[in-house]
Amino acid sequence: MEHPLIQKQWKKGINSLDIVYPNKKFGGAYNLGILIIYNLVNNIPNWICNRVFLDEGKISSSLIGFTFQYEPDYYNLPKMLSKAGIALEKEKRRQVVFAGGPCVNANPSALSRYMDFLVMGDAEEIVPKILNAYTRDKPKFLEAISKIPGVFVPGLNNPSCSYVKNLDDTPYPLYQPLPVDLPKEYVFGNAFLLEVERGCPFFCKFCPMPLRGGVRIRSLEKIKKIIDDGIALNKRKKVILYTASFTHPERKEILKYLLSKNIEFSVPSIKVELADSEFLELIKKGGQRTLTIAPECNEELRFKIGKHVKDEQYFKFIEKANELSFDTIKMYFMIGIPGMDEKSLKEMAGFIAKAKKMCKVGLYISVNPFVPKPGTALSSHKFDEKIVKKQAKFLQNLLGKANIRFKVQGTRQAKEEWVLAHTTELVLK
Ligand code: SF4
Repeated sequence: MEHPLIQKQWKKGINSLDIVYPNKKFGGAYNLGILIIYNLVNNIPNWICNRVFLDEGKISSSLIGFTFQYEPDYYNLPKMLSKAGIALEKEKRRQVVFAGGPCVNANPSALSRYMDFLVMGDAEEIVPKILNAYTRDKPKFLEAISKIPGVFVPGLNNPSCSYVKNLDDTPYPLYQPLPVDLPKEYVFGNAFLLEVERGCPFFCKFCPMPLRGGVRIRSLEKIKKIIDDGIALNKRKKVILYTASFTHPERKEILKYLLSKNIEFSVPSIKVELADSEFLELIKKGGQRTLTIAPECNEELRFKIGKHVKDEQYFKFIEKANELSFDTIKMYFMIGIPGMDEKSLKEMAGFIAKAKKMCKVGLYISVNPFVPKPGTALSSHKFDEKIVKKQAKFLQNLLGKANIRFKVQGTRQAKEEWVLAHTTELVLK
């Protein structure tokens, strides 16, 4: 059993849409895109929206939308369609299958062989217009929606994007269903997602976030109302701040408001250049024990890939975290970055060793292969598994001497992600 669900009655003439997360529910239940569509569609009188996950729910509607957050999830598309008895080839099915999400926005042509259409941009701006044009006559429907900005119908039009301009004018997904008896593996626990802003004002050359519609912030007034209504409706005691870099000009006021309501909260990613002692103290008071930051690499290369933060700023951040007695700092790094050589790896190892020495709190190091997304300034960089493995070994040797252990996250999976992200037209079996 889940709570809170939007209850809608079947009646004559009602249409239904299945919104599909092609992976397991313990992560997908917190996907904001799924929640936005679930709330948006169910608020339209003649529509019902069902959520379907890889391990729960059933595809049964004539209009089926997939959201792709990670490229390897593409492989679950044929599995899920076949389980529902639906042909993968669009010419062989009567149902209309479409896709959206970050992977589609970055590379809309990858799935064009299998998708009747693709949604590019913000769902709130595009989906109501699609539903308004809905008819069971598939060719007529596709022809009609090909005129909508943000809808890409392969063979009928070219990709275009459409974004929400003012977040305050868009409805918030207040209904965020979770199982009443929440299993332990549900990644964020019994929490309410609070999206305070969309986009990112920084321009890291490998990240697609700044390319999507610019930075849009919700007003403090609206955020307070969402907190009040969302917490009451969902009966949650914890909030997850849903933001790429939490640059909201009133971020401290948001946290103070949550504290005034006795609500625990978590800020998943922190920009050290924005984190003064007061901000970190608020985070600590909100119950968060771990701080996550991403220095990525050594300082020189960090600036070259568009992240203009000095080593010194990270060290000052560590001092503040020490003073406030957090439990752990998680640091994310990358290898295989264009221009990365032995000198940069030695500097990176030196940075990590110094950070380790300074940390009175636990330090967790994660090293990931560099996977630039299409459309970004570094997207033409080719993934080289050999180089990534060589650099991982070199770094392991350097840090092993300082007794620092770390794990490089799946090189093979990263390569697959890169290939899928850059493929012009995917062929699935
Ligand atoms: S990596 Fe983070 S800070 Fe950089 S552009 Fe992307 S979201 Fe913004």
